[in-house]
Amino acid sequence: MRNDPDRFGFEIVATDGDARAGVLSTPHGTVETPCFVPLATRGSVKGLLPAEVSGAGYEMVLGNTYHLMLAPGSERIAALGGLHEFMGWDRAIITDSGGFQVFSLAFGSVADEIKGRRGRPPLDGGVLGIDEEGVRFRSYLDGSEQFLSPERSMEVQARLGSDIALVFDECTPFRADYDYTARSTERTDRWLQRCLDWHAEHGPRGQAVFGIVQGGTHEDLRRQSAESVAAAGVDGIAVGGTLGRDKEQMREVVGMTVAMLPASAARHLLGIGEPDDLVAEIGAGVDSFDCAVPTRLGRHGMALAPLPERRFRYDVRKRRNAEEPGPLVSGCPCPACTGFSRAYVHYLSRAEELTGVRLLTMHNLVYSRELVAGAREAIVAGRFASYRDAIMAGAAPWEAASA
Ligand SMILES: [Zn+2]
Repeated sequence: MRNDPDRFGFEIVATDGDARAGVLSTPHGTVETPCFVPLATRGSVKGLLPAEVSGAGYEMVLGNTYHLMLAPGSERIAALGGLHEFMGWDRAIITDSGGFQVFSLAFGSVADEIKGRRGRPPLDGGVLGIDEEGVRFRSYLDGSEQFLSPERSMEVQARLGSDIALVFDECTPFRADYDYTARSTERTDRWLQRCLDWHAEHGPRGQAVFGIVQGGTHEDLRRQSAESVAAAGVDGIAVGGTLGRDKEQMREVVGMTVAMLPASAARHLLGIGEPDDLVAEIGAGVDSFDCAVPTRLGRHGMALAPLPERRFRYDVRKRRNAEEPGPLVSGCPCPACTGFSRAYVHYLSRAEELTGVRLLTMHNLVYSRELVAGAREAIVAGRFASYRDAIMAGAAPWEAASA
């Protein structure tokens, strides 16, 4: 690990079993871990102002290289002062590399694959070609030909000026066989080195670089990838790629992968963030998470809630909520729950009022924040296992924290 106090840093302040509480230091302030990172895919957390996101307790958001390079373009964002200045967010930003997006275009999503929706065969969906150099694809906005490579991804992220950049990796499809995954993991290794070489010469001062462990669901490939990422001198390590077909397999793959990582490295889990996943993977030793779930659910009328038997959510638009005078979730400190009835949010959601989306997004982000903050408190107090068990048994985060 690099260890320069003027730049990125990660310090573990407490451990409880495999779970860790820590602090990330970035040029835009500290981030307490474990943490959940809301998506600001196109340079905004959809529907919210930066002050509302930080007011909900968030210290870092995630911007998307793929989307921001297509519009408004990294040159324009750089000319306007970088992504922090452009979006009015003065706390930490992590940017993904665009790898996941271009390879999802090529292969379809894991959900598509598992559900048998293979309408988009490889090298369709806007991808023109994948080779050792990088990926050529068509912009979904204007059809223009675009190119992403390790160097290009790092250049875009340098222009955006994020605090943490992720290396450009090949994200293999779930259906990829062992040989394909092995070759792809080796390519990701070579791309990692190209990313670090570019960054060493051109990267902005203070920007950290996280490597990404690939290898699909195969233990030996995960180990090989984890070892080369750890040996490459990165600032932190993200776990990416196919984690399996269901939660059970995901727990196995994440658990074995995290156990292969150096204890001192900050560990980020890409694209995972449902309440049960958060407590399970914090228990496995993951420090940070990003996921579309809280914000996306909010846009679809769904509220996170302590309902393990219903995937920790319910549909606010269901008729049974029409006359409910209480809050979305009893005891929740969010603006929706402290200021409005469930009946009001139900009515707004059914009427497709923007305020309804905003209230549900705020609720889901505050709920997720309470969940990870409660986990941190429990780790520091040495009672994480009982916190996790209480959450899985249906306690709200603020109840589990005082249990
Ligand atoms: Zn709430």
